[in-house]
Amino acid sequence: MELTNDIMHPKVALTKNTELISGTHILYLYSNWDKYWDNILSFVTAGLKLQHQVILLESSDMLAEMRKRLFIRGFGQEQIESIVFVDHRLFYGAHQSFDMETVLKTLKNSIQHYVEKGLPTRVWSHVFWHKDACCEKELKLYEQKADAILKPLNAFTVCSYNADEISASLSMGLMKGHSHVMTDDELAASMYYKSELKTPSLFIEDRLQEKVRHYKHLINEMPDAVFFVSDYQIVYGNHAAAKMLKCETGDLSNVSAWTIFCEEYHDVIRQRVKKLQLKEKLSLVEMKMKTYEGDILDVEIGVFPFSLDIEKDSTAILIIRSIQERKAHQQLTIKTEKLSLAGQLAASIAHEVRNPLTSIKGFIKLAREDVMQDAYYTIIEEEIDRIETIASELLVLGKPMSVEVDVCDVGKMLRDVCILLQSQAVMRKIDIQFHSAEPGCFIRCNAGQVKQVFINIIKNATEAMEDGGIIRASVRPDGETVQVIIEDEGKGMPEHILQKLGEPFYSTKEDGTGLGLMVCFNIVEQYGGTIRIESIVDEGTVFTIQLPAESS
Ligand code: ADP
Ligand code: MG
Repeated sequence: MELTNDIMHPKVALTKNTELISGTHILYLYSNWDKYWDNILSFVTAGLKLQHQVILLESSDMLAEMRKRLFIRGFGQEQIESIVFVDHRLFYGAHQSFDMETVLKTLKNSIQHYVEKGLPTRVWSHVFWHKDACCEKELKLYEQKADAILKPLNAFTVCSYNADEISASLSMGLMKGHSHVMTDDELAASMYYKSELKTPSLFIEDRLQEKVRHYKHLINEMPDAVFFVSDYQIVYGNHAAAKMLKCETGDLSNVSAWTIFCEEYHDVIRQRVKKLQLKEKLSLVEMKMKTYEGDILDVEIGVFPFSLDIEKDSTAILIIRSIQERKAHQQLTIKTEKLSLAGQLAASIAHEVRNPLTSIKGFIKLAREDVMQDAYYTIIEEEIDRIETIASELLVLGKPMSVEVDVCDVGKMLRDVCILLQSQAVMRKIDIQFHSAEPGCFIRCNAGQVKQVFINIIKNATEAMEDGGIIRASVRPDGETVQVIIEDEGKGMPEHILQKLGEPFYSTKEDGTGLGLMVCFNIVEQYGGTIRIESIVDEGTVFTIQLPAESS
């Protein structure tokens, strides 16, 4: 049967509009009675022809008139009787009171009945309400709730209201409960349609689940290894994590953190977990991890609490990056630097040694020509001494660390050096005072090398005090280190000299070698220690040497 012949207002086109799918809820604000009739007839005839279940909620007069008009249009008795005619006064009960819950329940039950039979259902409902029985607010709420019921039932519903009887506020409120709005000649999507009330909670859950899936996917595909760890147990590891640890199954859940981190870092891990519980921010840390194949990996780890309340939920997120390449690069840089330093040093040594050699060569030439004076021999001796000094200072540098390393008492070594140098110092009116805060500060070292450090620094101090004074040398434990402080009252150093300290052959003295401090830095560095220098011109200098302590 042709549909179009019977559709009076194709613009409203309740049958043709493709965006109108089943489950559409249309608010019809009518003003012209004739057009109202055209539209309702169009709705009903199209429904009958499409073999939809048609439900009409209208006044009893309208229902009778509808029967007549359908009959005139050629619909058979059987077809007409297939329509469910409901008196809207009875349905909405508005002549007594508007009982929203009952109306909603009836609406749902009556439509559900047909929907369950598998019939596409279309409902035309001329909403009957009376201002005395039902306030506008109630009506708005009713339509929103009805929308929530109709949507899952996939019913195609038109709710008609007399536009003249409705305030602007009510029509806006009604638009919130309908996906579409229709006038006598127009049909459009409702721009005020809101889904707050009609969204069943299950739907929100679905969206949450979808978000969770989305984030999981994102984390899984991240290039850095991501672990979720709870109570030292991995609960989740992403793709990159499994790849990094060479885990073939890809499943890292239930693996203990203790098995993937090398043992020497277990204490560090415990400390960091404690810090995390105290809500302290953790910096990146370098550690070593073990892969499933037993290789050791250098990694950098960032840790973040997963829950805001870390006391209740101890889950943390670890983001781990392999620093294997960076480490290799660092090693190479250090090696290159060492080589270039060796090159620099060789050039400086050649320069330093060539000067005395040139003068010695000159004197030998004089001796050959028999014009040598006795005084020249003294100069030759001095020049040879200088070469010897340079050679012996350099020897300390070249000595391998492995020789005679023992646990040594720092206080004893420093006191020995002070006594040794005291006799020379007295001649310069200098008093070297030794002080030890606590007996028994031990370090693991070669005593000769560490004494050399003290000698070089105290010698420099005496050379800096032309007018005499006091040099204070003291030892004290400082955490896991031993601290040696050597303080003088000498001329001090300006910034430009301080910056050059430790450079080979940098000296401000006429007969200086400029090797003493370089030797000191080198030795202390070998033992994992540091030297700090503070100096004030014309007041004095403080050398602070820090070396790792050895419990004995
Ligand atoms: P040298 O003693 O042969 O000059 P060093 O390496 O021992 O070489 O010292 C380098 C330079 O550092 C010295 O020439 C001097 O200028 C400066 N210096 C070192 N220690 C002190 C100090 N205690 N007071 C002032 N200057 C110092
Ligand atoms: Mg010196």
